[in-house]
Amino acid sequence: MSEFYRETSSLENKAELWFTENHTPNVRFSIRVDTHLISKKSPFQQIDIFTTPEFGKILVLDGYLMLTEKDEFIYHEMVTHVPMAVNPDIKNVLVIGGGDGGTVKQLVKYDTIEKITLVEIDKLVVDLCREYIPAVASELSDKRVSLKFEDGLKFVRQTTEKFDLIIVDSTDPFGPGEGLFTKEFYGNCCKALSDNGIFVNQHESVFYSEYANAMKKAHSKIKEFFPYSLCYQSHIPTYPSGHWLFGFASKVFDPRRDLQFGKWENLNIKTKYYNTTLHLGAFALPQYVRDTLR
Ligand code: SAM
Repeated sequence: MSEFYRETSSLENKAELWFTENHTPNVRFSIRVDTHLISKKSPFQQIDIFTTPEFGKILVLDGYLMLTEKDEFIYHEMVTHVPMAVNPDIKNVLVIGGGDGGTVKQLVKYDTIEKITLVEIDKLVVDLCREYIPAVASELSDKRVSLKFEDGLKFVRQTTEKFDLIIVDSTDPFGPGEGLFTKEFYGNCCKALSDNGIFVNQHESVFYSEYANAMKKAHSKIKEFFPYSLCYQSHIPTYPSGHWLFGFASKVFDPRRDLQFGKWENLNIKTKYYNTTLHLGAFALPQYVRDTLR
């Protein structure tokens, strides 16, 4: 959980505010804060937004850092361009969670995408991100985006629609996000995908045991439904350990073998982190991660 440290520096005798997140019971990550912009409790979670000198605005849910203006591009580019470069013909996309708008901000770069359904359980997250972090949330107003404020678990249970891509951009496997790490959820996502559909999810990290267990469980459940189920990685400075994983699952695509280099390059999509060379490298996981996954 986060704790706010108010320290009075001995020299200027000025109060300093820090946002601190406990990555483990023995590891803390702190960011100096300029202002605590907003603090609201929704029926689902505590929502805080701060301004910080190093990372710009930061979004915190229930004391866990969700995104920062400075490094959000890494996560959001990796959950979108990896699947899009495997199947550039994707037209109908479902995003579960993602109320900050960062994933949608990347998806709308593709003129080929015809429809984006965003299923976010907490409308207040969308409202506050639109108001306080428009640099990330502004594309939620794109005419192709349809916002649904409901539980993603229930949505995939009852939808009859078929999606070419499902991106699970959820919080961690507790609180409102818990249901998005269950066998039932993965099975229903598999049913909601078209035959050449792709499923991508934020997959935590294995560096700290607290996260590794959740990640191992999620991975073994996803593998039950998809012939191709691989993890890929990126460096996210503000996430626990900085080494963050994503899951790629599909009934037909191997994300390394089927990468459409030429087709994706010809789309001229502007990125700051993703490129097709890094795409292949992202799936070259460290040995300890491979051993954990096995
Ligand atoms: N990129 C962030 C990360 O990896 O931690 C996630 C960002 S986004 C803010 C996570 C969103 O998932 C939150 O807005 C939260 O309200 C939403 N969420 C959590 N559980 C959900 C559920 N069961 N259905 C739909 N949205 C959910």
